Amino acid sequence: MKSLRRPTARFAFQVALPALLIVAAAIFAGYLILNEMAGEVDRSEQRSVERSVHAALGSFLMRLRETHGDYSVWDDATRSLYGTPDPDFVSSNLQDSSRQGVLFDTVYLLDENDRPVFGYQKGQPAMRSAAEEFGAALVTLITRVRSHSGAFDAETGFLRGQSGALYAVAIGSVVPSSTDVAPPSGPTRLLLLGRELNEASINRMRQEFVLRGLQLVVNPAPERAGVQILDPTGALIGVMTWQPSHQGQEAVDSVLPTAYLAVGLVCLTMMFLMAIGYFNLVEVRKREREAVFAANHDGLTGLPNRAALGRALEAATAAHLRDQTPVALVYMDLDGFKEVNDAYGHESGDYLLKHVAAGFGAICAGSGLLARVGGDEFAVLLDHADSVAGAETLSEQLIRFFDQPIALGGRMVSIGTSIGVAVMPGSSLTAEELLRRADVAMYLAKEFGRNRVAFYDPSIDAARAERMQLADQLREAIKTDQLAVVYQPIFEATSLRPTGVEALLRWLHPEIGLVPPDIFIPIAEESGLIDQIGAFVLERACHDALAWPDVRLSVNVSPVQFRNPKFDVALADLVAQTGFPLARLEIEMTETHLVANPERAQKIIANLRSRGVAISLDDFGTGYSSIGYLRRFSFDKLKLDRSLVVGITSNETARELCEATIAIARALDLEVTAEGVETEREAAVLRQAGCDYLQGYAFARPMTAEAVGSFLLSTLPQTVALPWTR
Ligand code: C2E
Ligand code: CA
Ligand code: CA
Repeated sequence: MKSLRRPTARFAFQVALPALLIVAAAIFAGYLILNEMAGEVDRSEQRSVERSVHAALGSFLMRLRETHGDYSVWDDATRSLYGTPDPDFVSSNLQDSSRQGVLFDTVYLLDENDRPVFGYQKGQPAMRSAAEEFGAALVTLITRVRSHSGAFDAETGFLRGQSGALYAVAIGSVVPSSTDVAPPSGPTRLLLLGRELNEASINRMRQEFVLRGLQLVVNPAPERAGVQILDPTGALIGVMTWQPSHQGQEAVDSVLPTAYLAVGLVCLTMMFLMAIGYFNLVEVRKREREAVFAANHDGLTGLPNRAALGRALEAATAAHLRDQTPVALVYMDLDGFKEVNDAYGHESGDYLLKHVAAGFGAICAGSGLLARVGGDEFAVLLDHADSVAGAETLSEQLIRFFDQPIALGGRMVSIGTSIGVAVMPGSSLTAEELLRRADVAMYLAKEFGRNRVAFYDPSIDAARAERMQLADQLREAIKTDQLAVVYQPIFEATSLRPTGVEALLRWLHPEIGLVPPDIFIPIAEESGLIDQIGAFVLERACHDALAWPDVRLSVNVSPVQFRNPKFDVALADLVAQTGFPLARLEIEMTETHLVANPERAQKIIANLRSRGVAISLDDFGTGYSSIGYLRRFSFDKLKLDRSLVVGITSNETARELCEATIAIARALDLEVTAEGVETEREAAVLRQAGCDYLQGYAFARPMTAEAVGSFLLSTLPQTVALPWTR
């Protein structure tokens, strides 16, 4: 749960919150834009209505001007209205029209000096003169009209009457329309036509210009919104108002539900996407954690792997550099694991590894980091104040873990571990060097035998270095002919006739002198030189043996050479090249390495035997040597190790052990050779016990090829002149 929380918080801050902010900002911006658009629509509508109102007022004035033109620019009017006005004309044309009120409802005639001649309002004689009715604003209009010298354009404008009603007024000179009537010679008379802006005329404007709710407000407050009506003096006398249109806002209001729905859908989609994103993120994080775990842990046991140990080691060595915290590395390699794995299969091997890992885990809990380094190798890293002593007690506990055999599918198996420990107090080492030292110490522990702990010591490295140097020199020795083969005869036990010869390798080192094969053969095996050396011995021995009488030739072969699966074929070819008969060849091998790959060894042995080569098990009595083992590999001969021969003349138990061993071999139908026979008394006991062949300083020491050749010739066919009799 805790591990899930972190991606949640990060997701919330890095994805969800920004996404929400973006959506909120987008919604807010959308809202602002819609509102702004609605406002703009409404304002433009307002301007358009304003233009219509202006147009309506303008058209109202224009019509009156046209009517005025019809009545004042007229021959009849000119004839009838100058001097004393013709009452019939006035009555039928002006008074009646003002009564009908269609074109105008007010008419005044002013004389050449602007004094009133007559006036009618709605058919009735006017109560007041034009000047009284319209006041100073009319004077302004009259002044303008009078200022048009020679032209007869009328002036129009809106004026307020005494009643408070507003009038459209047109005023201009009465002049003839044709040349039939002479125009007035002096100042003209002025005809004033007026039309009240009453409900009827405003209603017509409403209909004509589609102006909803058009109203005239008389005597408005100066800030009153609408189209202002000013009189010719510029005084505000009225305001046209109308019902404002909110089309934009209405449009917005009508789309808002859809917009809300859309926003809701967008939000839902986003939430859905975010949920998908979130779950993907959680999944990716989980995979990441799994990948990191897999990269740092061993799949089988779940323990940290070599890489993880490497990192922990780096950290520990760095900490050591800073504050001298002691570091100890305990390196374990299981003993006998490979045998169990080979014998019972990989499943059993895996089970065993898991069992061991769990046991080690319980032992190491709290004291150090346990890791599986590879195959059957484990390591514990300790990096605390008590690391060095801790490593020692821990190693003992780890070894004691194997005191009890382990149940494995109905069987009990017994394995162990060899432990190497490297510590780092004082001197600072790299992680690599610490690991190497622990590994080296572990190999030393293994050489001492199972279930041991070895602490790294610089002398181990010195010994290793020496061995490596020796390996280099051995390589050189092969090239420079420092290797030689000597031969030790083997005698038939009862007749003491030499029936065979064992080839033994010698290395005459230019500085050290004679290096014993017990030293350099293992080095050759380790360094891979053994194949070359083995071939050299075999070829030389077969070649030398051709010169001797008909005796068997024994050659020591290291089972390490069996790593070459075609070893048998290679051997047969090599021997064939020398011309030595395979039927006279005997191979001696120790069992130590046979265990490594029993199937292959078995096959090679069987193959060699089928070609007539006899197989001898060397050093019998020193290794694992079980009877089942002897049967499995079907040897021809056994060679009793010298350690079994020593003491048989002085020690009862030793004699009995030796006799029992010989009895086993005979029971298995194997011939027995005793080696390292140094005295006649030993020879007698061995002969008595049933030994078939004897070999030892008592009869002959290893000697050169020529020496052994003449030795054999001198002793054949007679019996040997025993050395101790000479
Ligand atoms: P091994 O095969 O058991 O050889 C017998 C060893 O006992 C030889 O030692 C031999 O000199 C020694 N010996 C014989 N009679 C007596 C005796 O009466 N008393 C005592 N104390 N020793 C006696 P060597 O030649 O030093 O060889 C030691 C081992 O080196 C051999 O033991 C063999 O395992 C190995 N070795 C020698 N030559 C070769 C070789 O060509 N190839 C391989 N793979 N191993 C070889
Ligand atoms: Ca031998
Ligand atoms: Ca031997």
